[in-house]
Formats: sequence, structure tokens, C-alpha cells
Amino acid sequence: MWWKEPVTSLKGIGAKKAADLERLGISSVGDLLNFYPRQDAYSDYSKLNTINALAADGTKQVFKGTVYRVRDSFRQGRGRQNFTVVTVRDATGYIDLYFFGAQRYGARKVKPDETLLVIGRVTRGRTSKIASVVSYDLWDDGDAGKTPGIQPVYALTEGITQKNMASFMRQALSLAEGGIPESLPEDVIKKCALLERITALKNIHFPESWGMLKKARERFIFEELFLLQCGLIYYSLKRQEVRQGVKHGHDGEKTAQLLKNLPFSLTPEQNGAWQEISLDMQNIKPMHRILQGDVGSGKTVISALALAKAAENGYQGCLMAPTEILAMQHYETMKEYLEPLGLKTAVLTGGLKACERKEILAGLAAGKIDIAVGTHALLEEDVKFDALSLAITDEQHRFGVDQRAQLANKSSFAPDVLVMTATPIPRTLALIVYGDLDISAMKGRPPGRKPVQTLLYTEEKRDEVYNGLLRQVNVGSQAYVVCPLIEAPDVMNTRSAETIYEELKNGVLKGVPCALLHGRLKGQEKDEIMAGFAEGEIKVLVATTVIEVGVNVPNAALMVIENAERFGLAQIHQLRGRVGRGEKQSFCVLLTPGDSPESTERLKVLRTCDDGFRLAEEDLKLRGAGQLFGLRQHGLPDLHMADILRDTDVIVKARRLAKETMRNEGDYGKIRQFLDMQFDDRFQMIFNS
Ligand code: ADP
Ligand code: MG
Repeated sequence: MWWKEPVTSLKGIGAKKAADLERLGISSVGDLLNFYPRQDAYSDYSKLNTINALAADGTKQVFKGTVYRVRDSFRQGRGRQNFTVVTVRDATGYIDLYFFGAQRYGARKVKPDETLLVIGRVTRGRTSKIASVVSYDLWDDGDAGKTPGIQPVYALTEGITQKNMASFMRQALSLAEGGIPESLPEDVIKKCALLERITALKNIHFPESWGMLKKARERFIFEELFLLQCGLIYYSLKRQEVRQGVKHGHDGEKTAQLLKNLPFSLTPEQNGAWQEISLDMQNIKPMHRILQGDVGSGKTVISALALAKAAENGYQGCLMAPTEILAMQHYETMKEYLEPLGLKTAVLTGGLKACERKEILAGLAAGKIDIAVGTHALLEEDVKFDALSLAITDEQHRFGVDQRAQLANKSSFAPDVLVMTATPIPRTLALIVYGDLDISAMKGRPPGRKPVQTLLYTEEKRDEVYNGLLRQVNVGSQAYVVCPLIEAPDVMNTRSAETIYEELKNGVLKGVPCALLHGRLKGQEKDEIMAGFAEGEIKVLVATTVIEVGVNVPNAALMVIENAERFGLAQIHQLRGRVGRGEKQSFCVLLTPGDSPESTERLKVLRTCDDGFRLAEEDLKLRGAGQLFGLRQHGLPDLHMADILRDTDVIVKARRLAKETMRNEGDYGKIRQFLDMQFDDRFQMIFNS
């Protein structure tokens, strides 16, 4: 296959240029063709100007002229610089072309009466228009009427010029013209009215028109998203086929009892999510579902219902949380919900005594324990279930895809898998990252909870904020103070949790029980502090973001976030979800040094917006599509053209068509040939994972 040939097979590429190209990640001809010009940076040379019509504004323009005179000159003074001036003319006027440095060798060789096609930056000189020349060519009358058209601009490295690149690219394209197989199914191309591959390739590098450039881009964006989705679908098909799924019965006695015991009724959002989950569980096909719900949207009770359903069908369920604190909290909640139904629950964490652990493992293996809640400790080799039919992970963003799979592998069946996340992932991203998962999304909160009032203060108001803190404590509420760092700051304007803790304890909060919580404490210390805070003994908790995840203390009514400018919007939203869990009006105070107006500006949206999904999208926009929280981090290939924020509609369409194409695992053969035709193996990677 010609595209696998090294770039040195092209004219003008020797060892030196090959090494330069290597730095751009280009080693084969295929890599070269995959190296698209910079987005939105094409230069428009499709209009040929007459000399009198050139705008003397420093922009690049294209014109032709006949050589009238060539002379060398130099600029005097300290920065003495030699240059060559070529004066050209057409029927409308004269212009002086300036050539500097290495450009001069070529310029000195042009002869009077030759006609040049010039791209240059035109400005006004002392007596006439002048142009610094970007590039020029001898004009061949055979080209009459032809202009350089729309020219690509590549993001290059030293040693390679735009002209080099264009020349390499033309050679590669002519190879492609000699025979390039399609890389998308024919019917998909037809259905979506996409450009043929070769046409798209030619137009992405050397567009015939802006319209064709747009169509070329559309084709490649679609192609990326389509192949990615095919890969994800294949991955999920492959995974399902191995073990038999579990078909749970209709909702029975225990789920009914649990619903009856609840002190509230489910919201319509919760009901909708529960219906979807319940139906999935009744299907022999294993569930792969993500339950997205903003902080406090009430996901826990949904997981309890699912666990009760597994148990009432005679199976076991487990719930894995990313931290010990959260696992314990879930365990307490599950005990409360499930033990009255006659179900046996147990908790498995790293902190257990050997004998306790042994007993629990025995209970799980014998099927005596119905529900296991725990941390990563659940994943350990010797943890075996008798009949696990449901594996739930909470706050999935803290777990890798492998760990999710590892948990599911604890069963001789293919268990139903439910992933709960409070990290609002924009739907578009979820489709990519979890393309193989179905999504249930719960928006909003259960009734009766007042939205957290969010205030924005700068450093000079610190005393006021501290007084507010004291006021809250005096009326019996509790508070969090969240800091980005644990120890003494190595960054200006950033106060560490330790500093703040000392400052409060010895200052405004003298005599008030406070504690310092951070990730470097041992599991047991953390648990003790958390327990003290939950029971109300500790009034103010100074913490790093370890509290981000799921902790529930309804009496906490104030959260102060130090150096709020260092956090993402969605992260702050998650943090503030720790307050406003009770009856009282709660507050979140964002403190910033106030030395950077932009970062303060960015935080303003938090005062009015209470929609985690929207905030996550804002974050994504701010961070730019290029570096969204990396697909690579999820084991997926990078996208060159597609932008998952902008291309939502294409994602949806690509997913639909990918589903049609990949109805079953056998259909992989159809896609395989297209993967082989790709210039790189980015997409092959997901199929092989
Ligand atoms: P999260 O989605 O963040 O895990 P939780 O499940 O912890 O949220 O729920 C937050 C709080 O809301 C809990 O105290 C829970 O008991 C309560 N809650 C859940 N569902 C409802 C409801 N339908 N009506 C009233 N309160 C509810
Ligand atoms: Mg939760």
C-alpha cells in the first residue's frame, strides 16, 4: 500500500527533511496526507489583483507583473541589511518587490520581461507601492486565468517551509489519485451525501472553493465520529457475547416495600430513570447504563431500588464507591433502606480487620450476603460472589474503564452494569466516551431543597466572610472551607488548607471545634473526622477537594471556597452540592484574590446557574475543544477534525448509522476493510482493545 511507504519515497525528501517531518509525527506518505492544514488558516489567493487595485494594508495579496528592473540595495545604519528590489509592472502601475536573505539568490536570477505571479504583503513605500514577497513563481502563459487559489497553511516546524509542504502534499495526492480505496461504506456516503474520499482529500489540502473545503471537512468529521462509534459498538458487542445475562422478574415485593418505606415519593425524573433501569434488568441482555444526575438529584435511592430488585430475584448486587468515606456513607444508607426488607448488607473496604474481611468474603461466596458496598477492595482477586447479577459503580469518573469491567467480571453471568455519575458530562461527550452505554439523565433536584445561594467575594472582604462563618456556627449550622492546596503555598496568592486552618482556629473561630481534612490523612483518620463532622461535633471542616465526592451532612449550610479561580465551574458546582442538603437556606462563598478580573468574571455564572450540565459545557468551551478532558484518558483515539461540542448533530447521526452498520459482531468484517484503509491505526486500536 503506497500510503505505508516512507516519506523519503517522495521527491525532495532526504534524510534531513525526513527527520524534520518526523518531528511533526509524519513518517509515511499516509501520515503526510493525514496532516491537515491548520483549521481556518487557509489563505485566499483565488482573486488576482491588478497592481493599482492592491490594498496597501499589509495583507497578503496575489498579483502578476512583468519584470522591469532588478537591483541590489542596502539599508544603512546599525542594522545594515542587504536586499534585492525587483520592480514589476502591469498595465495599471508599478510595484517594488523586496527580497531579503536567502530569497535574494532567486530574485537576482529573474530577468527583465519575465512575468511573475507574486504573493506578497503590500504596503505603501516612499514613491510607489512595495511588497515583501511571500512567494513567487514564473508565470506561464499556459496558466492564463489560473490563480494559486485557496492555499493551505500548515503548522510547521523548522526546516520545512509551506512551499516544501505543499510540494510534498501534491506528490502524495497524485499517488492517491492513482488509486485510493474508500474508507467509509458506500451506502453511508450516499445517505449522508458525503464527498468521495479522494475528492475530500484533495479539497482539504488544496480547496477548489470555500464550499468544497467545507464539504471536505464534513466528510472527515463524519468519518472520525463514525469509525469511533463503530469501534465502541463492536467493543460492547464483543463483551456481551461471552456470558449469559440475567433476566430479572418484574418489580416485586421488596422494591414495592422499599418505595413504600421511603419518606418521600420519587420525582418524575427519578421515576423515569428507575423505569429504564428496571426494564433493562428484566431483559436478558445485560444492562450497560449510565445514570447521570446532578449533585443531590437523588441517585442513591435509585441504586437501592436496583439492588433490591437483584435481591428479590435471588441474586446479589454490589455498589462500588471511589473513597472509603463515600463507601461508608452508602453502606449506612443501604442498611437503612435494605435491611428492613430482610436483606443482608455488608461493607468491604481496605480498612477492615482480617477476620471481619474473611467472614464477609465467606458470606458473599455462599450467597448469604445480598448486597456488598465497598471501595476498590471489592475488586480484589479473592472477593467472589455466589450469584452477582448487578454491579453498580458510583462516581465513575474516578474509576477507569478497566475497573468497571473488572467488577462486572466478578460474576459467572454477565451482570447488569449501572454507572452512576454526578460529574455532569455533556451529552455529546458521553456519547463518545460512553458510546457503548445507554444514558439515563436526571435533571433538577427533589422538591423541598432550596437552591444554594452563591456569592462572589474578593480578598479584601475576607473579614466579612469570616464573620459570616462565625454567625453560621452561632446559629447551630456547620460549614466547610475548601482550599485548593494542602500545605504552605508555593504559588503566590494561594492559601493552603493548613494556613487557613491555623488562621481560623487561632482567630475568629477560637474555641469552636474545627478539623483539617485532606487526602494525605490515613483512611481511618479521614473517617474519624468525617464521622465527627456528620455527627455535628466538628463545626467547621477545612478541607481540600477530598470532600468533593458524595458526602452528605444536611446541617452544613455554608461553604467557603478559597481561591475559587483555581477550580472548574463544574467542580465548584459539585463542591457546593455538599451544602443545601437540609431545610436551611445555604450559602456558597467564592473567594478570589481579585487580581485577575477575567477569572472572577468566569465565576459569575455560578451565581445564577444551577445546572451542572450547562456549567460543564461552559468549562469545556473555556478549555477549548482541543484539550477537553482527553479522550485518550478514556483509552480512546484523538480526533483530528471533529469537535465534540460543535459537532453534536454529526455525533448523533454517526452513532445511528454506526448502529445500523454494526448490527452484530459479524458485521465487524465490513468495517475491518475500512479500518485497513485508514492512514493510521487510531481506530483499529479501539477494535483491538
Ligand atoms: P445524589 O444524586 O447526589 O447521590 P442523593 O441520592 O444523596 O443525591 O440524594 C440527596 C438527598 O435527597 C438525600 O438526602 C435523599 O434522601 C433526598 N431525596 C432523594 N430523592 C428524593 C425525593 N424524591 N424527594 C425528596 N427527597 C429526596
Ligand atoms: Mg451520590
